[in-house]
Amino acid sequence: MRCPFCFAEETRVIDSRLADEGDAVRRRRECLVCRERFTTFERAELRLPQIIKSDDRREPFREDKLRAGLHRALQKRPVKAVEIDAIVAFVRRSLLASGEREIASRQIGEWVMNELRALDKVAYVRFASVYRSFQDLNAFREEMERLEAQAAAREPNAKT
Ligand SMILES: [Zn+2]
Repeated sequence: MRCPFCFAEETRVIDSRLADEGDAVRRRRECLVCRERFTTFERAELRLPQIIKSDDRREPFREDKLRAGLHRALQKRPVKAVEIDAIVAFVRRSLLASGEREIASRQIGEWVMNELRALDKVAYVRFASVYRSFQDLNAFREEMERLEAQAAAREPNAKT
């Protein structure tokens, strides 16, 4: 780490201890060139990335917004509240784990759709129709056709 006094790159850690009740590490460092001492703090980066919307505007990730979208898609569907919570938690974890400063809202949509696809097909289609905008109409139609083909294949009395 560069010395803030003389900008030399060679510094050494002379002391290291926990700070902020264990949430951070405080290090005393000494510059090997000018011998000045300084302190650094190291803590886990838990800031959620900014969301890039389809019109290129940035906004903070809002859990309540995602939850509202899920509730709309899951209206009158046999899906438990804990399952909605699990999807929200999964998205949050994925955002944190990404380590990115910015993430496209489209990526969040993909995560949610993957989860919904396994959970409830109707909710999945509802969510997808809202999330995938008109520019993706073809992709949406293909997905619908794929789902219908899947359902038909599983139907035991389907004509061959
Ligand atoms: Zn220095």
